[in-house]
Amino acid sequence: MGRVVVGVAVSVAVVACIVAAGVVGRRVQNRGKWRRVVRVLKELEEDCETSVGRLKQVVDAMAVEMHAGLASEGGSKLKMLLTFVDNLPDGKEIGTHYALHLGGTNFRVLSIQLEGNRSSILEHDVERLPIPQHLMTSTGNDLFDFIASSLKEFIDKGNNSEVLRGGRRDLGFTFSFPTKQTSISSGVLIKWTKGFSIEDMVGRDVTECLQQALNRKGLNIRVTALINDTVGTLALGHYQDADTVAAVIIGTGTNACYLERTDAIIKCQGLHTTSGFMAINMEWGNFWSSHLPRTSYDIDLDFDSPNPNDQGFEKMISGMYLGDIVRRVILQMSRESDIFGSGSSRLSMAFVLTTPLMAEMHEDESPDLREVARILRDTLGILEVPLKARKLVVRICNTVTRRAARLVAAGILGILKKMGRDGTGGIAGVRSRSAVNMKRTVVAVEGGLYTNYTMFREFLLEALTEILGEDNAKHVILRVTEDGSGIGAALLAASHSSN
Ligand code: ADP
Ligand code: MG
Repeated sequence: MGRVVVGVAVSVAVVACIVAAGVVGRRVQNRGKWRRVVRVLKELEEDCETSVGRLKQVVDAMAVEMHAGLASEGGSKLKMLLTFVDNLPDGKEIGTHYALHLGGTNFRVLSIQLEGNRSSILEHDVERLPIPQHLMTSTGNDLFDFIASSLKEFIDKGNNSEVLRGGRRDLGFTFSFPTKQTSISSGVLIKWTKGFSIEDMVGRDVTECLQQALNRKGLNIRVTALINDTVGTLALGHYQDADTVAAVIIGTGTNACYLERTDAIIKCQGLHTTSGFMAINMEWGNFWSSHLPRTSYDIDLDFDSPNPNDQGFEKMISGMYLGDIVRRVILQMSRESDIFGSGSSRLSMAFVLTTPLMAEMHEDESPDLREVARILRDTLGILEVPLKARKLVVRICNTVTRRAARLVAAGILGILKKMGRDGTGGIAGVRSRSAVNMKRTVVAVEGGLYTNYTMFREFLLEALTEILGEDNAKHVILRVTEDGSGIGAALLAASHSSN
């Protein structure tokens, strides 16, 4: 009997020890896996570091690269393309003008009516149409016939049909693909992007193709301006506020343009304009500098992209990519531990996590981060995420967006530095300790990432103030324009009209 009791007691003790060891083991394991994911987060935060000191280096690098791109063809990763836009709408324009915009999310047709008062656009009609898939890889004639028909229908539908009988109208064409301009109204397509591939168009004059299609439809309309979306934004910005000197697009992609003195465009010696300036399309998405805070996720994203080593700045900044950077960090964490469950296959799919969804997670204010849980479940197939892990996801979003927004701020200030409008006297100027008087400087901004993502906007504005200092920052105004990429083209068509 006694032996039995002892035996049972020993067995119970052994079982208790095993259970206890299990619990302790699991706790140790648990702590280990949290430590590993926190390390992933810390590394991300360190690699994304954007101190004011580092941002100032980016400002300087941007200004230096701009200089180099203006000095010689291929002198910098910044192409610094001439736009031949040397006079911006001043508000005196009158009449009805049209614009077409190809290269945004949708194809857009629009008209504006002007009566000669700055800021007053009497009427503004716009129609958005998807480009039928088959036309994106068809022939130039097919695509441009579709575009011309859409314009004709738009005119027939609107109240504008009789205006055409009154005489010829002008049209601005926003064509957001790389083109080599030879004048304000002509440019040759260098290559297609964004899913278009129409071989017979490459190397041809874009305006000519459109003009011929308009003629075929019997439209008495002349294409007087060929621009890209940044230039349109600059034109509308300048129309609404004459202190506007630059424009930045922060949407699916990112780009900027600004007004440069023609004598600073060294690669085009002898370039002459009556105004003495020209808008330069920077193609800043391709900016690169060793001062940019780059992570292993950026390197992988670039490697997996169809255009490696291209558009490096854009890949750290724009709406096309931010969500995917976040996805890559979550994927890394799920490889290091099981805090996101046993691994979902959807987490490995490139671009499933879009930037608007990332923004929703980032801006989730519910105490239990309900939206984060929903998006992780519905989009990434990650079920049952503990609150602690959801909080980590919010921190990842915060880190990725904060870096992007602060880099845009540095980019903008690089432009202002090049223009001598950052309060330091510019790169060529003599730097004095006391700041040069700042002029009121307006930058027109457009794009869904900036306008729809509040945290992005706040980080950007905060960084501008940090870099410039509060007093100088008061002189720099970021002003959102709406549909400038389209309306600006119509305005430029008006100001370059020969009527
Ligand atoms: P596009 O770049 O095609 O001309 P937009 O300027 O409107 O169009 O930008 C659209 C892009 O803006 C989207 O691809 C997306 O990346 C980003 N975006 C749109 N809405 C949001 C949002 N709510 N939060 C974050 N990013 C957004
Ligand atoms: Mg756009």
